[in-house]
Amino acid sequence: MTASTPDRYIGRFAPSPSGPLHFGSLVAALGSYLQAKAHRGLWLLRIEDLDPPREVAGAADAILRTLDDFGLHWDGSPVYQSHRYPYYQAVLDDWARRGLTYCCHCSRKSISEAGGFYPGHCRTRHRPPKGAAIRLKMDSPVYDFDDRLQGHIQVPAPLAEEDFTVRRRDGLYAYNLAVVIDDRDAGITEVVRGADLLEPTVRQIALYRLLQAPEPGWVHLPLAVHAGHKLSKQNHAPGLDSRRAGALLWLALDFLGQRPPAELRGAEPGVLLAWGQAHWSLSSIPAHAKIELDRADVSHF
Ligand code: GLU
Ligand code: ZN
Repeated sequence: MTASTPDRYIGRFAPSPSGPLHFGSLVAALGSYLQAKAHRGLWLLRIEDLDPPREVAGAADAILRTLDDFGLHWDGSPVYQSHRYPYYQAVLDDWARRGLTYCCHCSRKSISEAGGFYPGHCRTRHRPPKGAAIRLKMDSPVYDFDDRLQGHIQVPAPLAEEDFTVRRRDGLYAYNLAVVIDDRDAGITEVVRGADLLEPTVRQIALYRLLQAPEPGWVHLPLAVHAGHKLSKQNHAPGLDSRRAGALLWLALDFLGQRPPAELRGAEPGVLLAWGQAHWSLSSIPAHAKIELDRADVSHF
């Protein structure tokens, strides 16, 4: 827990080290940074290195360096999820003792054949723990929530009601579990991130309720897409070029609907961030889940 007063704004940026930051990650970093700074809050950094098979060697350090080069200086020391396994396990042990979870050996294939969502097949079967995934009994599903940018969000019932995985068959902790425990322990008051995480938010809210932890506010920023595809490490979006930090920050401010003045195009990162902080307007961000970048913008990356 941080020592700050409970009413202090605490935000965060939580990249996965599966590759370098790209323009889509810059939008999430900048949006969460400016929202925190405009509230005179803290902006924390968490490296989500929860999934070693998907981790790229050196990516975590490269992410820290890039954020520094872009003037996005975080408060305190970065938190690494790989150092937090005992906290995740303690919660799972508690839930197991209370009969809230169960072991499951069903394959991905059998679940997709059953319609994509897990039908609770192993709930009462007392499967052996060895090689099993751990699932949470979703007895109090959350179907909707209010996003401070996207408005009222409702998800399909089968998604809300699924007994989702909290620990994978390969022994790795699930993203939804780790993100909630980490955000709770850091005292995060508002989560600002990309709209690709709108749907899992209902699962995370269910976990806050189960943990009887205060729920943060939610802001899901529009995703940058190009030719219909999300910019992502998986589809090889180019890594951010620190020599072009000013130009890219200007584009990210513009993407977030903040209308940076043309004469600041390519200014020093500090100048653009100061302008962004002074003029920050959450309600100017287009409340879309996706925004197509035009070719001219993409050619600047
Ligand atoms: N680590 C996730 C990602 O890079 C973000 C998680 C979050 O912000 O909740 O997509
Ligand atoms: Zn099962």
